[in-house]
Amino acid sequence: MDLTPVRAPRLGPLARLAPEPLKIILNWGRRYSLWVFNFGLACCAIEFIAASMARHDFIRLGVIPFAPGPRQADLMIVSGTVTDKMAPAVKRLYEQMPEPKYVISFGACANCGGPYWDSYAVTKGVDQIIPVDVYVPGCPPRPEALLQGILKLQERIAAESVDERMAARFGAVPAASAEALTSPLVAPPGRTGTEGGR
Ligand code: SF4
Repeated sequence: MDLTPVRAPRLGPLARLAPEPLKIILNWGRRYSLWVFNFGLACCAIEFIAASMARHDFIRLGVIPFAPGPRQADLMIVSGTVTDKMAPAVKRLYEQMPEPKYVISFGACANCGGPYWDSYAVTKGVDQIIPVDVYVPGCPPRPEALLQGILKLQERIAAESVDERMAARFGAVPAASAEALTSPLVAPPGRTGTEGGR
């Protein structure tokens, strides 16, 4: 299994140089607009679905369960048993999510292998392949436990600084240069290289 760390993504100048009140507003916006990519792998996924339905209704917390795919998602919820065969797909789709991205490990299987902890075919926790922000225990956890996990994650997002988060994950993020601040988002035609592009 390829566990090579991914290249540090580039941060926009706003993430680094914005004044503190603006960062609070940005964090407030990210906290209450979490587009979810549900990685439902086994029984726990049914509890995730229950949490998204009318009775528990996690949309009222700003969690949106309609991300068309990982490229549009902020939050991955891994619910169910991660097998060694499925693990590369989990990692690959996680890497397709844009930064800053978050992961909730939902249920004993995703946390540590659960009842299948000694199976030859089961990954002993999804945190062996991707970083996890919040663990929700239980087999299966009730939908209320997921709601609490989402609230915990939102508290973390409200208190965090995106550039510090990046530095913790990828090492020191280079300081913003004047060139980076003025570079175009799309490289002009005929220009090679990725400066200013993605
Ligand atoms: S933790 Fe329990 S309920 Fe959840 S996927 Fe594993 S066996 Fe199923």
